[in-house]
Amino acid sequence: MGLIVQKYGGTSVGTIERIQRVADRVIQYKQAGHDMVVVVSAMGKSTDVLLEMAKEIAPQPSERELDMLLSTGEQVSIALLCMALQQKGYDAVSLTGWQAGITTEAVHGKARIKSIDNERILRELRAGRIVVVAGFQGISDEKEITTLGRGGSDTTAVALAASLNAEKCEIFTDVAGVFTADPRVVPTAQKLPRISYDEMLELANLGAGVLHPRSVEAAKKYKVKLVVRSSFTAEEGTYVEEGSTMETGRVVSGVAHDEDVAKITVVGMPVRVGTLSRLFNTLANNQVNVDIIIQSSYDAAESNISFTVSLTDLPRALSTLEQHREELAFRKVDHEVGLSKVSIVGAGMINNPGVAAEMFRQLAEQEISIKMVSTSDIKVSCVIPAEHTALAVRTLHTAFGLDDVEEKAVVHGL
Ligand code: ADP
Ligand code: ASP
Ligand code: MG
Repeated sequence: MGLIVQKYGGTSVGTIERIQRVADRVIQYKQAGHDMVVVVSAMGKSTDVLLEMAKEIAPQPSERELDMLLSTGEQVSIALLCMALQQKGYDAVSLTGWQAGITTEAVHGKARIKSIDNERILRELRAGRIVVVAGFQGISDEKEITTLGRGGSDTTAVALAASLNAEKCEIFTDVAGVFTADPRVVPTAQKLPRISYDEMLELANLGAGVLHPRSVEAAKKYKVKLVVRSSFTAEEGTYVEEGSTMETGRVVSGVAHDEDVAKITVVGMPVRVGTLSRLFNTLANNQVNVDIIIQSSYDAAESNISFTVSLTDLPRALSTLEQHREELAFRKVDHEVGLSKVSIVGAGMINNPGVAAEMFRQLAEQEISIKMVSTSDIKVSCVIPAEHTALAVRTLHTAFGLDDVEEKAVVHGL
């Protein structure tokens, strides 16, 4: 029997009773003869609570201290889960990110894992222990505690599964798998039995919060067998794997939405070679992640450049632009919030012209204005006013044939 990595999200370890249930499930696997490495998130909404406390003290708290604070959430749940396992008669040990050998970049708030030295985990497994690792955290070469970004425990689990060459990585959460849309927004969303790494990566990047995008990236890169399933039922989940598209042959496999969108317009940029490069290099050097970009020239000398960033990056983006106003030589900067990005994703659209046109038509019929568009081989995204998000997602879900309900989404613990 091989090694299995399991990850339990916040809702799944949200109460003492749920931690007991997680312990019971882990024990079942252990009894079946598996070596077990279990990654847990902070209990319930405790990361949000910590974040709110920090914001009460400082509107823009130090990123280092924020990581120090947020990493404590996972330390509570690893210790409690180990106590539950021990109380039930099983030898278990909890490890923080650094104890588990997880080294990250020296970036606070969204660090990438650089390497994992799994010697300690292997030693504990050899001693017959269940190893419980704190998700979402690591340590930089400078020995600073870092976090991987919201939802990052998924990435901890997949990275450990890759490093330990695990048989599979099971992500236990509060829904039964990956659905055709967020079941909280679309009650008719269906569970997908399978989804390809590429489609899942698009969905995750486009706001389907069920998996942290980097966990999918890592699973694809290291060919980790990844399963998303419910921690409340025994139901089979969704397999995220190489190449398989949805069995139904649909053009669109899922609809995603993201309300973490701000639009910035840099007005009056000089039209000359290198302008775009200077602008976006300046932003990148200041850790601003840019998403959709649109350039519009209105005369030979000047152009406007609009782009989207996350709401978290907005203040940094605006201050960076202000600081570099002279060298970038623009006239002014405008920004807009209250937006969302709605996307359709599907490998089936590669050879199907007219998918984007159909999406625009559907949104127009609902009188939803489209502010920006972005496409790739397997997705089309539209930035729209946030108040129309749910209507847009439901409309597209129906229009692209995703509604025929075979299996209803059940969301627990709301
Ligand atoms: P966890 O705490 O277990 O990591 P998350 O809240 O991060 O759980 O992720 C699970 C949630 O993701 C679900 O409750 C659901 O609302 C949301 N979600 C968004 N898009 C999807 C989707 N396409 N399929 C399933 N769940 C989705
Ligand atoms: N506790 C962290 C968060 O709430 C990490 C995670 O849950 O994956 O974002
Ligand atoms: Mg999550």
